[in-house]
Amino acid sequence: MCKCKKLFFILTLCRDVIKNYFPDCFNQFTTCDMLFRNVAGCHELKGNLLQIASENCVPHAMIFTGRPGTGKLGMALAFARYLNCEAPGADDACNECRSCRKYAKLEHPDLHLVFPVAKLKNGEKDPVSDTYISRWREAVLENHYLSLYMWMEKLGVENSQGFISIRESQQIMKKLSLKSFEARYKVMIIWMAEKMNPAASGKLLKILEEPPAGTLFMMVAEDTGRILPTILSRTQIFRVPPIDKGSMQRLIGEKGINDPDKAGRLAKLSEGSYLKLQELLEEGDENSYNFSMFVKFMRLCFIPDFAGIMQWTEEMGARGRERQKHFLETALRLIRGNLIMNVKAGDIDLLPDEEKEWSVKFSKFIHPGNVHTLYDEFGKASLHIEHNGYSRLVLFDLAIKTARLLKT
Ligand SMILES: [Zn+2]
Repeated sequence: MCKCKKLFFILTLCRDVIKNYFPDCFNQFTTCDMLFRNVAGCHELKGNLLQIASENCVPHAMIFTGRPGTGKLGMALAFARYLNCEAPGADDACNECRSCRKYAKLEHPDLHLVFPVAKLKNGEKDPVSDTYISRWREAVLENHYLSLYMWMEKLGVENSQGFISIRESQQIMKKLSLKSFEARYKVMIIWMAEKMNPAASGKLLKILEEPPAGTLFMMVAEDTGRILPTILSRTQIFRVPPIDKGSMQRLIGEKGINDPDKAGRLAKLSEGSYLKLQELLEEGDENSYNFSMFVKFMRLCFIPDFAGIMQWTEEMGARGRERQKHFLETALRLIRGNLIMNVKAGDIDLLPDEEKEWSVKFSKFIHPGNVHTLYDEFGKASLHIEHNGYSRLVLFDLAIKTARLLKT
């Protein structure tokens, strides 16, 4: 057996072992997110869609609508994939047939994707979805809960609103006039359909009145109030609900958070939105970093260790201004919490456990004699950083003042 064949044999064996003994791992590595089972929650809606498919009464125009982070786009793509799957199961696409494999990469020739675009510096004058199709596929495969802001950020134009132009609707007409290549249904997904300008909406309306045979329109929208009523009246609306608490807790578990109290708190705060959960988890990392930097800052100031302070200001100074301001906000909150603990004037349970444990020893250094000046100095530092002061210098100056104030 030649070397290549041996390697292929070993790889196939590994694949089969993982598939048989660790099916969850196998699915994680071999599927993309666009299957029903990978869209969190929405059990009732999935049931309705499966029933529509089994009864063969799929409407030719649909809108999947719901709040940001609820899985609207994932649901539309999972349904399109299911409808075109060559061997669909009772509750999901097979994920192995030729159609599924192409859908997994969002590269099926009968799957057309339309989304808001923006003009880029030195970019195409009148861009359409096809101009940025590879970047959009990449963004959606990475996270199908993608928001419009995240997409614009990916294009490098986060201040833009994005648009679906008249030229785009001409392209839609052109694509739909072609015969389908291989699929049962030719699918046109229009993500953030409320971004269609009136002229583009008018063109789309004409196609919706006389849809080409075997064509399905799946629009995805957050705000149906901004879609022409004449379009809405020709489509079936599917409301995608917020992710239920149980599904949200499972998602949190998958992120490696096993503390049931913390998971419960996060599930409540995320209000059924995957994007909100992501934000909360990112903030959590930032808060924990800021807390450790505050502890280090106070220790260096207390000694005082000026060489250490220099190093500290270098590290904090290398972060962006918004992050430095966020650190100073955390510092102000911790100063307030430590004063409350010292004078026993309020509810110290408001501090998270890790911070409370540290504050038991530190709080005696924050008292009515220095708290006003400390508060002022941290507040002023934040203002100077906001007004483009040289942050390393501002933070070093703050450290010297803090060192003095901790001894008063
Ligand atoms: Zn399939």
